[in-house]
Amino acid sequence: MTRMPTLFVSHGSPMLAITDSPAHRYLQQLGKTLPRPQAIVMLSAHWEAIGGPAVSLTATPETIHDFGGFPPALYDIQYPAPGAPAIAEQAAALLEQAGHAVKRSSTRGLDHGAWVPLSLMYPDADIPTLQVSVLRGQGAVEHERLGRALAPLREQGVLIIGSGSLTHNLYEFRGQDIDTPPPAWVREFSDWMTTKLLNGERAALLDYRRQAPFAARNHPTEEHLVPLFAALGAAGDAASTRHLHSSYEYEILAMDAYAFD
Ligand code: ZN
Repeated sequence: MTRMPTLFVSHGSPMLAITDSPAHRYLQQLGKTLPRPQAIVMLSAHWEAIGGPAVSLTATPETIHDFGGFPPALYDIQYPAPGAPAIAEQAAALLEQAGHAVKRSSTRGLDHGAWVPLSLMYPDADIPTLQVSVLRGQGAVEHERLGRALAPLREQGVLIIGSGSLTHNLYEFRGQDIDTPPPAWVREFSDWMTTKLLNGERAALLDYRRQAPFAARNHPTEEHLVPLFAALGAAGDAASTRHLHSSYEYEILAMDAYAFD
């Protein structure tokens, strides 16, 4: 069985699913560059749980259109990947062994943080997929620990993906065009994160909230960045980072993707 890398992907706006852009095209080829996974664990910014992580054991997850005000074409998209209840139960047990109070759900579907990137990476929707939630109000350290508990799944060919956005301040979105270049406060933060990841400076990364330039401005709340720390934790202490993709959309969204292995 191939030991899988872990990934962080930026899913940006839901329009990424149907709008051509460098990030859209990048994700379309990403799946082909990886060993075929036995299953996928998606840690999406759009599923937050309180008190402990939630895990989806749903056998046939529905496609959740958890957004408003977008064109009908986006609501028409279905991503009918099967669930992975047995691997989900394993994930839940690993998290419990690590001391987490796990909530199991047998009805939770796939939110857009999961299906938007997966619909580009694996358009045939034929790889069993489950979700693990992020922890509302918890930061980098807690999510690195969360990811660490899931690491053994990689030995079984499970691909662990954190799906968020390297920068994500929607209060600063005022209808900018998709190709509006980013301001310094977006670029300096994303450059800092990439440099620290490539240098393996994990202690600095886990303290990003204090050390990174414009951290709170790029992430007024942390749910879109913490999936990155979960992916990093799942890759282990000795993981090295590959910077897979960099682009910006709508001035404020850094669309970076990384592999950790
Ligand atoms: Zn999002």
